[in-house]
Amino acid sequence: MKFYSTNKKAPLASFQEAVFKGLPEDNGLYMPENIPVLPSSFFDSLEVMTFSEIAFEVIKSFSEDEIPVNALKEIVQNAFNFETEVVHLHDQVYALELFHGPTLAFKDYGARFMARVMSYFLQEKAKEAHILVATSGDTGSAVAQGFYKMPGIQVTLLYPKGKVSKIQERQLTTVGENVTALEVEGTFDDCQKLVKTAFVDKELNEKMNLSSANSINIARLIPQSLYYFHAFRLVAAQNEKVLFSTPSGNFGNLSGGLLAQKMGLPINHFVAATNINKIVPEYLKTGLFEPKPSISTISNAMDVGNPSNFVRILDLFDGDYEAIKKHISGIYFDDESTKNVIKEVARKYDYVMCPHTAIGYGALVNKMEEPGSKPGVFLGTASPAKFGDVVNPVIGREVDIPKRLLEIVNRPKNAISMNADFSSFKEYLLS
Ligand SMILES: *Cc1c(COP(=O)(O)O)cnc(C)c1O
Repeated sequence: MKFYSTNKKAPLASFQEAVFKGLPEDNGLYMPENIPVLPSSFFDSLEVMTFSEIAFEVIKSFSEDEIPVNALKEIVQNAFNFETEVVHLHDQVYALELFHGPTLAFKDYGARFMARVMSYFLQEKAKEAHILVATSGDTGSAVAQGFYKMPGIQVTLLYPKGKVSKIQERQLTTVGENVTALEVEGTFDDCQKLVKTAFVDKELNEKMNLSSANSINIARLIPQSLYYFHAFRLVAAQNEKVLFSTPSGNFGNLSGGLLAQKMGLPINHFVAATNINKIVPEYLKTGLFEPKPSISTISNAMDVGNPSNFVRILDLFDGDYEAIKKHISGIYFDDESTKNVIKEVARKYDYVMCPHTAIGYGALVNKMEEPGSKPGVFLGTASPAKFGDVVNPVIGREVDIPKRLLEIVNRPKNAISMNADFSSFKEYLLS
């Protein structure tokens, strides 16, 4: 399978090239040249397949002969070695819980798969790579955990001092082994600038094989289609189609769902659920895509004013606004209504959600008021335990904290302090 750039001005890339390049030269995003429609034999046996078996079949149709069957089986088993749970809440409303991986958020799916794929290709070539990641929180911890102990790969994470939550900081700074955290005296933009400068620095690139691991990598997108298949087979009766509501910021998760639909999964409609960074809901209303500076909210992983995967959505529909509107509805929630949703659902169903997940739920039940829109599934993108400071006061008690999160919080922080000028960063990398 070849991958093209959405800007159509870069050469086609193999799966391996697309994974290591991340971004094509023309600054578009990679997309599969033809999205494989899975055979009816796949859908016939979907109900009895394990998550790993689904993952294997779906991913194989993109990676084809670039990863041999046995290697791919091992990669998916290791990457998705945690549960993906579907919980029935009420009236054909289901929660698809994507937060049982090591960092308690759905980004584990993409990050863990990408890490194993990169490591596999590097070992084949007996090469090593050094991954640089600037993070403002969640992405970095998923990447750090994903690459932990991966052969042939060093990881350096840069995060802005004092600008990530305490739990996030622990998740970034307690990994160890091949993962090093740099606490940068500056903002997230400063961190990003250091990374970008490193990628174009001649001396660094001569001396080391630098690579990125950002959220638009094709190896992170593809695994985000898997759980739509998994949920579908657990909630849909014969010949039924499913409505999915996806809490969205950068729109990678929703793009994964659209991929699943194109591969033949009977999804009748998507809800793009956002906070007041409602760029895509506005687009769906007016036809105008107008990026804006992002606004801080309690669902901070969705505070995105210029969603980068939007070009992938346009591309999947050849830019046809009417077609996009037919498949996707936009619904947004402000912080006040998000808190109300968390409170109501905790009270009525004894089910506690993180702020992002609550928006997914709220948007889903709104949409389900329309006839013919059942069953409905909302994606649970993070564990409420990661957002205790928001959730506890709203539900009037302390949300349960999973054991593995408690362990991390109690581990000592291990980070190297660094100022935001490039020369010290470069010196660190070369040392
Ligand atoms: C990243 C993230 C989102 C947004 O996902 P996108 O793929 O960027 O749309 C939603 N919820 C949580 C908890 C996240 O970490």
